[in-house]
Amino acid sequence: MPMQSLPDLLKHELGDILFAEKTILKALPKMAREVSNPDMRARMEEHVRETQQQVQNIERAFAAIGERAKAEKCPAILGLVKEHDDFKSEEEPTKPILEAFDLGSGLRVEHYEIAAYRTAMAIAKSLGQRDVVALLKANLDQELAMAKFIEQSAAAALKMAGENAAAVAAKSAAKKGGAAKKGGRNQAA
Ligand code: FE
Ligand code: FE
Ligand code: FE
Repeated sequence: MPMQSLPDLLKHELGDILFAEKTILKALPKMAREVSNPDMRARMEEHVRETQQQVQNIERAFAAIGERAKAEKCPAILGLVKEHDDFKSEEEPTKPILEAFDLGSGLRVEHYEIAAYRTAMAIAKSLGQRDVVALLKANLDQELAMAKFIEQSAAAALKMAGENAAAVAAKSAAKKGGAAKKGGRNQAA
C-alpha cells in the first residue's frame, strides 16, 4: 500500500533512527576498544550511555504519536559500520592508523544521525508534534556535541597517531632487519 501521509513518514523516520541507534549501540563499544587515547575512549564510553538514553527517547517519541516502537532497517548505518569493518580487514592497518581512521568513522556516524534527527524534527514540527520535537532535540544535541568533540580532538589525536605509527613502523623494520640477519644477508628486502 502506498504511503500517503506525513504521520506515516514520521513513523518511518523514527523507525530508521531507532534502527541506527541500536546498530551503533552494538558497534560503539567495539570501536571504543580500538582507541588508546584515554580522553577519546572515555568520551566514546559516555556516548554509549547517551545512546542508551537516545533509544529510550525514540521509544517515547513513538508513544507520543500513539505508535508502537518499531525499528526500520537503515542500510546507511549498516554501510557506515561495514565501511569501518572493510577498512580493517582489507587494509590491515596498524593500531595507530586504525585509530586515526576511526575519527572519520565516528564523525560520519554522528553526521548521519544529525541529518536523521533534523529531518524527523522538521516533519514532527510540521505536524505540531511538540513532544516529539523536544525528545528528538535532546538526542540531536548529544550528537552535535559528540561530532564537535571528535573534530576538536582530531588534531591532537592525529599527531599522537602519527608518532605512534612511526614508532610501530620503526619497530617492524627493526624486526625485519633482525630476521634478515638471521636468515642471511641476501634475504633482506
Ligand atoms: Fe545516537
Ligand atoms: Fe536510514
Ligand atoms: Fe551519536
